[in-house]
Amino acid sequence: MNEKIWLSLAHLSGNEMKYIQEAFDTNWVTSAGKNIDEFEKQLESFLSDDAGNETNVFVTALSSGTAALHLGLLLLGVGPGDEVLCQSFTYAASANPIYYVGATPVFVDSEPDTWNMSPEHLRRAIIDRIAKGKKPKAIIPVDQYGMPVKMDEINAIAQEYEIPVLEDAAEALGSTYKKKACGSLGDMGVLSFNGNKIITTSGGGALVSRNKQLVKNALHLSTQARDVAPHYQHSHIGYNYRMSNIIAGIGRGQMEVLEKRIEQRRANNIYYRQYLSNVPGLTFHSELSSDFFSNFWLTAILINPEKSAGITREDIRLHLESCNIEARPVWKPMHQQPVFADCPYYGEGISDRLFEQGLCLPSSSILKENDLQRVVKGILDLYK
Ligand SMILES: *Cc1c(COP(=O)(O)O)cnc(C)c1O
Repeated sequence: MNEKIWLSLAHLSGNEMKYIQEAFDTNWVTSAGKNIDEFEKQLESFLSDDAGNETNVFVTALSSGTAALHLGLLLLGVGPGDEVLCQSFTYAASANPIYYVGATPVFVDSEPDTWNMSPEHLRRAIIDRIAKGKKPKAIIPVDQYGMPVKMDEINAIAQEYEIPVLEDAAEALGSTYKKKACGSLGDMGVLSFNGNKIITTSGGGALVSRNKQLVKNALHLSTQARDVAPHYQHSHIGYNYRMSNIIAGIGRGQMEVLEKRIEQRRANNIYYRQYLSNVPGLTFHSELSSDFFSNFWLTAILINPEKSAGITREDIRLHLESCNIEARPVWKPMHQQPVFADCPYYGEGISDRLFEQGLCLPSSSILKENDLQRVVKGILDLYK
């Protein structure tokens, strides 16, 4: 049996242990220290418009992307009884924190080109929610698989109705929209460093904003909201969401290879396109123009059985599985999930079709040409 090819694996640089060792050597085995400070600086420099020069994007490192979404909602003033507009085509982690703050998600369909939040359905949802008596308190668009949301359109609608945007860029570190970093495109943004993302700290996340005060407030809330006083005094409910100085050491080592990882994941995408573009009924999740730059965290395809002689996404997935290759269906939309069955939804079946036809191909940065060949051959086998 050939060695297993996984969907998306961590890929270390070799320097991570050096920074972890530093933390141990200096006894900074806690939720403060040089690794956290440096990791945040690296991220800020990477995300800022004029990378390496003036910092205009700010970051608080946290224990997970989910924690960052939770704090983001709190900082945008979302609370019990509120409604939050959320892209339906996403991972449950985008929507769960809406419940943590006692609010209700209102799901919005995707558009067929970016696979991300449809501006048209977003507007329709806002108008209808207001007509029903409640203006939504926040909008959560998602840069899915690294593909940037059409943020100009989303932001224009958000500004028109004065609703803040919390960009879920958990999968999109290194992606840009009109040359600006994903994560920095809304009022606040979220990154994840979970083990399967483009870089990892094993588990971790960050809250991002161009508003320095919001990011400072996130730091305050993430460290039990302690007031400035010699004794322990608290005026707000706090959380224990800060990133540890140990895992921030992994992050420092990973930031040194981020550019390389983006290149490698994009190279996987180019390889798949080169060998699969002519397969009937097979299309790629693609950048629409030079305004869109995806890190191609995952390469995703659609299989339209009407054009592929009846071959389905599931046929391909199962055949790849029999070749010891892991491919996964794209996200099942949140409005189809049992746990969110009662939530309002605005759409026209785009994300439902994506789910029926979509497949994520192995996309790790450690893949070798031989691995990519095996995946391509596995797919082409079915069309013989
Ligand atoms: C991974 C992910 C998250 C959650 O991040 P964690 O760090 O795992 O908590 C949120 N949203 C999306 C779209 C993700 O892919």
